[in-house]
Amino acid sequence: MSDKPIWHPFTQHGLGDDIPEVVRAEGAAIHTRDGQRLIDAISSWWVTTHGHCHPKIMTAIAEQAQQLDQIIFAGWTHEPAETVAAGLRRMLPDELTRVFFSDSGSTSVEVALKMALGFWAHRGEGRHRILVMEHSYHGDTIGAMSVGARGVFNAPYDPLLFDVGRVPFPEGNGQETLDALEAECRKGAAAFIVEPLVLGAGGMLMYGAGLLAEMRRICTAHGVLFIADEVMTGWGRTGTLLACDQAKVVPDILCLSKGLTGGAVPLAVTMAAEPIYEAHLSEDRAKMFYHSSSYTANPLACAAAAANIGIWKSEPVEARIRDLSARQADHARALEALPAVRNVRWCGTIAALDLGGEAASYLSDLAPRLMRRFRGEGILLRPLGNTVYVMPPYCIDEADLGRVWTAIAEAAETLE
Ligand SMILES: *Cc1c(COP(=O)(O)O)cnc(C)c1O
Repeated sequence: MSDKPIWHPFTQHGLGDDIPEVVRAEGAAIHTRDGQRLIDAISSWWVTTHGHCHPKIMTAIAEQAQQLDQIIFAGWTHEPAETVAAGLRRMLPDELTRVFFSDSGSTSVEVALKMALGFWAHRGEGRHRILVMEHSYHGDTIGAMSVGARGVFNAPYDPLLFDVGRVPFPEGNGQETLDALEAECRKGAAAFIVEPLVLGAGGMLMYGAGLLAEMRRICTAHGVLFIADEVMTGWGRTGTLLACDQAKVVPDILCLSKGLTGGAVPLAVTMAAEPIYEAHLSEDRAKMFYHSSSYTANPLACAAAAANIGIWKSEPVEARIRDLSARQADHARALEALPAVRNVRWCGTIAALDLGGEAASYLSDLAPRLMRRFRGEGILLRPLGNTVYVMPPYCIDEADLGRVWTAIAEAAETLE
């Protein structure tokens, strides 16, 4: 057994797998210490949007590092944060008037939940039940786990997780989901939190924009706050800047992280509609929003986010996303005929399929076996159980993307 001190996330060190060391990355590729080039087909766990080490983002961080590294954000401000907030206001729906900074997707979800509970508490209504969708993932902190799917990932912590109302993942026309949401809303709830269009960690499960719009309508009808967790789906992943855009819905609270800095450094925002902010606005200090973390709106991270917003304005990002989305759909469709492949699906730049007839257990060794196989072929893929998905940086060229899909097709053929 290794005596190295690092305890890696989502890693069973007891299995003794070696842990490759990455020394460099550019575009859609990473390079290991032992000289291997791998195609990053999962955008380094869904964060890298434009590509690794985008020069404008790297330069922005380097220049900011000459000016201001870190400053308390409670009662203080700085230009990079102001630039990011103004940029987000310009890019995103007008209704989302307020920008609260934090540093990870999980934290942005905790902040969203606290904002929703604070909203109801300060209005003197004791609403605190949260509604969620089956198979959701919202992060690994206790609150985020509470609103996510329960399973092997959080079984030891289950006694501490709070109770929520669950609606089923939409099947068929999704009527069952809508009916369940309606019934849960009738019982009274503070908020419904949902991953719009694609449930990421739940297995790249997809549902239509029409259903998202209906869910929003039901929440509005019952005064239940609608929280969109776009930590994964935001920044173009599903083909539009926000997945919510495809349903023409605007949430009351929006969580963004992963692609906010182009995937270079950690940063998150929770954006709120004016009534949420107003519920906390008072001369009474007891109603202020009691949340902060040490590195809230860290200037280096904000400089990276400002550069990302600049790239969205100055480069043909939308065209790249459209092009990649079309290529992904073509590649995915081509695998539909393989006997070992089921449930081929895609949404924007994300494409996924299920392999083999084996039980879709996260603990089965299919995923790690496939991961090792792909790694040997110079491809970074990390299947979720028996779900293989491709979610590359938008800059990936056709030679690399084609190699990824060929490797998946060959792996599928060995499973027949
Ligand atoms: C990744 C993810 C999170 C958690 O973000 P972290 O930065 O890993 O804490 C939350 N929600 C969704 C939908 C995610 O995909």
